[in-house]
Parts: sequence; structure tokens; C-alpha cells
Amino acid sequence: MTPIGRLAPSPTGAQHVGNARTYLVAWLMTRSHNGVVRLRIEDIDSPRIKAGAAEQAAEDLHWLGLDWDGVPVTQTDRLPLYEAALEQLKRQERVYPCTCTRSDIAAAASAPHIGQEGPPYPGTCAHRTVADALSLVADGKPFAWRFRVTESPTFTDLYAGEQHIDLEILGGDFVVWKSAGTPAYQLAVVVDDAEMGITEVVRGDDLIPSTPRQLLLYRALGLTPPVFAHVPLVVGEDGRRLAKRHGDTRLSTLRESGVTAETLVGLLAWSCGWVEEAQPIRARELLPLFRLSVIPSRPFVLTAETLRRIEN
Ligand code: GLU
Ligand code: ZN
Repeated sequence: MTPIGRLAPSPTGAQHVGNARTYLVAWLMTRSHNGVVRLRIEDIDSPRIKAGAAEQAAEDLHWLGLDWDGVPVTQTDRLPLYEAALEQLKRQERVYPCTCTRSDIAAAASAPHIGQEGPPYPGTCAHRTVADALSLVADGKPFAWRFRVTESPTFTDLYAGEQHIDLEILGGDFVVWKSAGTPAYQLAVVVDDAEMGITEVVRGDDLIPSTPRQLLLYRALGLTPPVFAHVPLVVGEDGRRLAKRHGDTRLSTLRESGVTAETLVGLLAWSCGWVEEAQPIRARELLPLFRLSVIPSRPFVLTAETLRRIEN
């Protein structure tokens, strides 16, 4: 079977060194097995989408030496697909309308288990049925659709091994359709990965808590899940996920300041343990050197010193 992988940038901002490392791993994983790579622009999170960021992301990927097959897929062109999936969940009563606001949820939650995604949903609206949505619509009350979480599936990550998130910290019933009338990430990503025939998903390990939820959606929708490989992120010297406070690590900025793709790819390849030294190298030259298992399990710390070094 030909593996089918994907690069899935969110055009909510510029792509930075951290994103580049994950894309490089994803591309090498699929291409090193002569697989098909698809590009998907994850632009359903509309308030946060920046104009031109999708084109910029494609340009950044090209600059890195990563390519893809076929035409890119854009989530905002695919709303009917997500709507059909929501309808399917409604027919099964797997979802219910939720009128809670963020502050309602924060107020109802007891402090102990605040996960990465904020306080767990306390189940305030779980007594509702799908039919209750009609009266909410009639009353002009905005609501989201939440998926009923019954268990937390265990999965075997190709990189990180056996993964299990306790049901209590998974965060409870989650939103699949926002009150703004758009699909939530969890639903869109499952519908897309299934529809595009994706067989392997390589992404940052910050998304591990999303995977059990996505597996529940695959099951509920009768779809076959891909295999997952969640890889460590790039962090700053303070150990926190790469962000503005760590300096400007946007790929477009590095490019403008004269950093070559080969220099950056060399640094990333070294950080992944595929080469002994951070020497300039092209992405495709890494194809025979790629090994998922040798990527260090600690996040890669991008120091200000390293950043300065590649800029010179
Ligand atoms: N669009 C997401 C991101 O850029 C990736 C989601 C995924 O790989 O499932 O973080
Ligand atoms: Zn609610």
C-alpha cells in the first residue's frame, strides 16, 4: 500500500522553525517510502486566519525543499463535507447542543484538572438531545455541538509508543461544531484525513491529547483512522513552545536575512539525529538518512546563540 501523508499548515500566522521541523519529518516519513504527500490548508479557524498566510505557508514549504502531489486542499472549500459528518453524528445522538460560554465552563469547573485545553467541560448541557436544537434556534440562542465522550481510546504512536490519556483529563465532551457555525478542528481534521485517504499523520506532540478524541470520531463516523506519529516540538531556552518572545524565527524572516534553506534543514536534521553535524543539506538528501526512531524524545531547544549562528 502506498503511504499517503499530509502537510497541514494553519494560516493563522507565519510558519516558524518549529513548524518547519515537523513538516520536514512528515515529508521525509512519507517520501522515504515513496509515498504521496498532500497539502491541506487548515483555514476554518476564521477569526484567526491572516490574509496571505496560506500562500506564504506554501512558499515556505517550497523554500524548505518540500513538495506535494496534486492540488492543495483548502478547508473552507469543503464545508458540505463537514456538515454531512455533523448530520451523521446527529442522527446517532452522538452530539448535543451546548449553550455554555467559555466563562460558564471556567466557573463550573473545579480547579484540579486544568489540561492544555482549559478546564474540562462539566457536562452542563449533556441532558439535551439533538431535537432540543430546534427550540434553541427558535429562541435565537447560539449553541455549539458537543460530542459525547464515553471513553479514551488507547493508541500506538509510531514514534512515541503506547499512548493513553485518562478519561478525566481528556477534557470531557468536546466541541465538533462551533456556535459561529463552523466545524471545529477535531471534526474537520478527521473528515479531511479520511476523505483524502491519509494513512499516516505526523504532527507535533502537543496534539497527542487530540488523538483519542479524533479516534472516537473515526469510530462514530465509521471511518478508518491513519497511523499517528507525534514528534517533539521545538522550544526556546525557557523550555516553552517556540513563540514571538524567543525572537523572530519565522521562515520568511530567516529567508530575508539570507539564511539558506539548506542551512536550516541541516540544523533540523542534526536536531533529529540524522546527521552528526549541522551542515547545510537539502531535504531530499535526507531521504536515505531519515529514521523516525532516532529523533530525540526531548524537545529541541533553539537557543538565541544557534539562531545567531545560522543567521551568519
Ligand atoms: N493545522 C495544524 C497545525 O498547524 C495541524 C493539525 C494536524 O496536523 O492534525 O498545528
Ligand atoms: Zn453546555
